[in-house]
Amino acid sequence: MTHDIRTEIGLRPVINVSGTMTSLGASIVVPEAIAAMTAILPQFVEMNDLQRKASAIIARLTGAEAGFVTASCAAGLSLAVAGTITGPDLLAVEKLPDVTTPKNEVLVQMGHLVDYGAPVEQSIRIAGGKVVVVGQATSAHRYHMENAMTENTAAAVYVVSHHVVHYGLLHLKEFVEIAHARGVPVIVDAASEYDLRTFLDQGADIVLYSGHKFLGGPTSGIVAGRKDLVRHAYLQNKGIGRGMKVGKESIFGVMAALEAWEKRDHAAVRARETGYLHLWKEALDGRPGVTALIEPDPTQNPLDRLRVILSAQEAHISAYDLAGALARGTPPIIVRDHEAEHHYFYLDPCNLHPGQEVIVRQRLIEELDKARASNEVLDTPHEEWGRHRFDALLRWPD
Ligand SMILES: *Cc1c(COP(=O)(O)O)cnc(C)c1O
Repeated sequence: MTHDIRTEIGLRPVINVSGTMTSLGASIVVPEAIAAMTAILPQFVEMNDLQRKASAIIARLTGAEAGFVTASCAAGLSLAVAGTITGPDLLAVEKLPDVTTPKNEVLVQMGHLVDYGAPVEQSIRIAGGKVVVVGQATSAHRYHMENAMTENTAAAVYVVSHHVVHYGLLHLKEFVEIAHARGVPVIVDAASEYDLRTFLDQGADIVLYSGHKFLGGPTSGIVAGRKDLVRHAYLQNKGIGRGMKVGKESIFGVMAALEAWEKRDHAAVRARETGYLHLWKEALDGRPGVTALIEPDPTQNPLDRLRVILSAQEAHISAYDLAGALARGTPPIIVRDHEAEHHYFYLDPCNLHPGQEVIVRQRLIEELDKARASNEVLDTPHEEWGRHRFDALLRWPD
């Protein structure tokens, strides 16, 4: 790349093999969305009409009755929950997060109470919801959920993510069946899920997606579902949604990203990504203390990643320290390392510009060769990892 805006303004030109991360600027925005944003930015529009156009596209792609665009999936979750509490009562909308009804309990399975950059639970609380935890971290059964529902249950939230516990919990269909037996609407947080239809098909009343993840849209969120519930969520733009305001460019940009998604050659994208995984795997296979495995996405997105397992004693470097060395190197390479305590990280191929795969391969080889040539074993003890984790953030902006 000849011209890079990042180096021009003094930012590190990071290469992202960690997936779609808010901390790195989410995803590569598709050209169709960039063109749409550029076209609408200088114009005035009637925002409710633009959102009506967005609703039609969202409905067509998801099978929902209606939808709208908001600032983020997290915003969508707050707005959707708020809508189930206020209904169409505009005064109640203005009063949030103070709640005027006792009917504000929101069920969530304990194994779904994760952190996607902020706690799921907080996005429910800022909407005036009172979180009612269902089951235990790795076990939730029908009787837990049935007994958690009361006349004050406003909604039940179901999170689909690699972050959640993946065994012992209620599956969506059963979760929906139990909620619907008591007339409780189900809100699904499917921020990173490629399938725009399956959750509504399984009975969800509202589903939420990120616009800036797999879709390659601008920073935004998509709310889709039953028309009355979508409308009640939309009304929150006159209340707590104001601080989550979405601009015309994001609405129009995500509309374009959705239409581009419909036309995208998904097989070709997957084939390119698979090519990267094989390139990296071939460079790693046979190296002492290194095992590279191609693995499917844990939530069944049509996406594989390379799991790189390190034996520190043999490779002379741990997964944690290799991830750190790559991130500090030139150019900085950010791997998917949130499970490094299990001695592996992942390489995620879905956010690379062509050519970057070769740099990633080269940097892996350099760091592994350097470690092997050293007599020292780099294996930072786990108890040290967390000690300085937030130092830089707490010093920001220095
Ligand atoms: C990324 C993510 C979010 C947050 O999405 P934003 O659009 O960035 O707000 C929420 N839930 C899950 C499961 C996520 O993966």
